[in-house]
Amino acid sequence: MTFRTVGLLIAVFVAAWMIGCTQTNQQRGSAPVVDQSQPKWAIVIHGGAGMLDRSMPADLKLRYEQGLTSALQAGRTILAAGGSSLDAVEAAVRSLEDNELFNAGRGAVLTRAGTCELDASIMDGRTLKCGAGAGLRTVRNPITFARRVMEQTPHILFTGDGAETVATQLGVERVDPGYFITPRRREQLDKRLKELGLTAAPSDDSLTRGTVGCVAIDIRGDIAAATSTGGMTAKMPGRVGDSPLIGAGCYANNATLGVSCTGTGEQFIRHVAAHDLSALVRYKGLTLEQAASVVLTERLEIDDGGLIAIDRAGNIVATTTTGCMPRAWARSDGATHLQIWDDDR
Ligand code: ASP
Repeated sequence: MTFRTVGLLIAVFVAAWMIGCTQTNQQRGSAPVVDQSQPKWAIVIHGGAGMLDRSMPADLKLRYEQGLTSALQAGRTILAAGGSSLDAVEAAVRSLEDNELFNAGRGAVLTRAGTCELDASIMDGRTLKCGAGAGLRTVRNPITFARRVMEQTPHILFTGDGAETVATQLGVERVDPGYFITPRRREQLDKRLKELGLTAAPSDDSLTRGTVGCVAIDIRGDIAAATSTGGMTAKMPGRVGDSPLIGAGCYANNATLGVSCTGTGEQFIRHVAAHDLSALVRYKGLTLEQAASVVLTERLEIDDGGLIAIDRAGNIVATTTTGCMPRAWARSDGATHLQIWDDDR
C-alpha cells in the first residue's frame, strides 16, 4: 500500500465519521430534549405595593381577592388555550383596569388637581418591541393603547395631548375623564392634600400608591410584561412615573425574564429597576429570586415597592418590601397562589 493510498483511506474514514456526527446532531435537532420539569406556561399579576390597610373589612378583602382571581383567569385561559403571552398580559391588565379597586383605569388615584393621568406600558420579550402611554386622560384601557402603539406605530411612548390624538387614530375606546374618578379616590386625595398642607414630608404614603401589572410566558417560551397605573395620589399634574418607562417599571426579554414593578416610581426610575433585574440574571448569573432580592433591598430602599417576574425557565417571583402587595399566579402544572399581605397564610 502506497503512502497515497493510506492518505486516501484516512480521508475517507474522517469524512465518513464527520457525516455520522452531522446526522447525530441533526437527529438531536429534530427531536429536542423537553424538560418535563419546566411548566409549559405561567402567569403572575399584581395589584400594587403597599396600599392596603390590614384591618380592612372582610368583604372588601374578598372583593380584592375576586378582582385578582378574575384578572388571573382572563390571562390563564388564553395561555392554556395556546394563546400568546402578549394577549394574556393585556387581558389580565384590562381586567384590573376595569376594576375600580385597583389604581389603574377606573379607580385610578388623582393628581393634586383632582384629575386622572394614566400611564401604561407593554413589552414583547421575543422581539423587544414595546409600547407605552403617559398622562392619558380619556383612554379607557391604557394597556390596550400601549399595545397598539407597539404594533401600529413606529414609536414607543406617547404623552399628553399627542397621546390623545394618537388614541383617536388608533381607535381605542375613549371615555369621559369623569369615568375614572371614584369617591374613594377623592377622599384619599383630600386626606393627602391635608397632609401636604401640614407637613413638608408626609409621614405615611402607604395610601398614595398602587398600580397593576402582569407577566406571562406562553407555551412557545415567549415572555411578555405589562404595567398600568394612575401613578401616586396628589402627584403634580404632568408627573410621569416608572410604569410607562421601559426598563424602569416594565421589561421583557426572552433571553432572561419579564418583570412589572410597583412602588415609588421615582426610585424605580433612578435605579432602572426592571432592566437591572434582567441584567443581574443575564450578566451576573443570579437566579431570579436572588436578583429580585438585590433590586428590592440593595438598590431600592426598604418600603419603596415590589415586583413580579417570570424567567425563561418559568420560575416566578412576586415580592415586595412594603409588606403588602395583592398578587396571584398560576402555572400549567396546576399550581396557583393568591396573597395580599406578606404574612397571609
Ligand atoms: N409606580 C407607580 C408610579 O410611581 C405607582 C405604584 O406602583 O404604586 O407611578
